Amino acid sequence: MPIKVRPIEPPPPPPPPPTWSAKRIARIVGTLLLAWWGRALYHDWPNANSSFLHNIILPIHETGHIVFMAFGEYLHAAGGSLFQILFPAIFTGYFLWKRQKYAATVPLWFAGVSAVDIVVYIKDAPYGEMELIGGEHDWSYLLGETRWMHAADRIGDAVLHFGGICMVVAVCLGLYWSREEPE
Ligand SMILES: [Zn+2]
Repeated sequence: MPIKVRPIEPPPPPPPPPTWSAKRIARIVGTLLLAWWGRALYHDWPNANSSFLHNIILPIHETGHIVFMAFGEYLHAAGGSLFQILFPAIFTGYFLWKRQKYAATVPLWFAGVSAVDIVVYIKDAPYGEMELIGGEHDWSYLLGETRWMHAADRIGDAVLHFGGICMVVAVCLGLYWSREEPE
């Protein structure tokens, strides 16, 4: 009697990764909330100082003054505003380096919020009406030293647009990278 050899069946193909996992939906919802919040902050830039996020940004700003203290009087004054954008941007770079693309979009959004947070301060430079927590008005000094005081409004607008662009890019990438990255 001939022996029947059963051919080895090929293993079934692995199931495709889910396109709409709970994680992805949570990420999309999170990004849409950031979009909504960012849009509100962008349009409400004159009241940035009374925003909840200002309480987080302020200590970062003050740390910036200390970080840049060693680089002369000008960078000491500019350091606060620089660092409040730079600090979240460092996290964006770190997450990109770690290939955690979605995670990188959240601090990028925050960098945009942080830029919008400075606008009212820049535009106040010629008037000095803003209530400060102490010390000199950073932007009155910075724009006075460089004789750019006349451009305070335009510089403020540029920073506002920069912040808006950061947020739009963060939201678009957040939606695009919401799919789980293959390990
Ligand atoms: Zn400052």
